[in-house]
Amino acid sequence: LSTANTMRTVALIPGDGIGPEISDAVKKVLAAAGVPIQWEEYPISTKNVVPGQDLIPSNVLDSIRRLGYGIKGPLETPIGKGHKSLNLTLRQALGLYANVRPCRTIPGIQTKFPAVDVVIIRENTEGEYVGLEHEVVPGVVESLKVITRVASERVARFAFEFARQNKRRRVTAIHKASVLKLSDGMFLDCCRRIAAEYPDIEFKEALIELCSGYLISQPERYDVLVLTNLAGDIISDLAAGLVGGLGLTASLNKGEHTVLAEAVHGTAPDIAGKDLANPTALLLSAVLLLRDMGLQEHANRIEHAIYTVLREGQVRTRDLGGKALCSEYTQAIISKL
Ligand code: ATP
Ligand code: MG
Repeated sequence: LSTANTMRTVALIPGDGIGPEISDAVKKVLAAAGVPIQWEEYPISTKNVVPGQDLIPSNVLDSIRRLGYGIKGPLETPIGKGHKSLNLTLRQALGLYANVRPCRTIPGIQTKFPAVDVVIIRENTEGEYVGLEHEVVPGVVESLKVITRVASERVARFAFEFARQNKRRRVTAIHKASVLKLSDGMFLDCCRRIAAEYPDIEFKEALIELCSGYLISQPERYDVLVLTNLAGDIISDLAAGLVGGLGLTASLNKGEHTVLAEAVHGTAPDIAGKDLANPTALLLSAVLLLRDMGLQEHANRIEHAIYTVLREGQVRTRDLGGKALCSEYTQAIISKL
């Protein structure tokens, strides 16, 4: 109990667009739930980037590293502004090697698919995203996919640890080792080796194309999925789509020393500043963060309050067909705590 009540400091990056509004919802709900967290706020923004200086000031990165835990709203991705995405910069600078996205059907939210309850764990540092492409001769390009034992074992171990911590039963490695014998072959081999260290968790393997079909028709086959970078990118968006989309999907980025929670949606510039945003995705991301910090009871209580409001359906934001403002929806969640 003493660890559960110790005050912790967590970095908060409100972000651009609707970021400040949904971050405000997180602060209010966690405060109302009595979560022992105080915030250290960092106004990182694409708007604050100064040409010729670091995209994200090194003292900000140091602070997040020192605190170890952070939550961020969406940051605008500049198109044609000549600098890299802040989201990507942050991920690389903090060594966030795994992306976790639980996708679970929410009672009361209509979807066209059977009930889904899966957690996608995506390798976030290598694979097809290493950016090694070149034109051999005009009309012929090559693109490299890099798979390493270190990164594969690291993400596999994280998947099993996540499964154990969250009382999940099965981890399925998704691959295309039938064709990519060396790269996906090694990824799969690493997953098998790590699986042997977790006899309490069932291990399965599935080809990615079969997995895609089954996710839509028989999602109960899957529990925790572990994938390489591009495969994880695609399957995680597919799974998010199955359960009701952008405004509801949480994610957690895991590094060796840093954990950063973030919603998967963008800055939603069309509704920014109007108190119309749905804060659920960031709130559920905060729930993931609390679980990772060992604050299970707080996490469960907040999650339950969110699900209750969504199930009852009286107070919903516009993206879910309701009329409630972000602040009203937030208040409704607080009233269920
Ligand atoms: P960015 O460039 O930052 O990715 P975007 O223009 O692509 O921004 P998204 O944030 O990806 O916008 O959103 C796409 C659509 O979904 C928009 O119409 C937006 O209003 C809506 N949307 C996204 N997130 C939310 C949310 N949390 N609540 C309500 N609507 C949302
Ligand atoms: Mg977008």
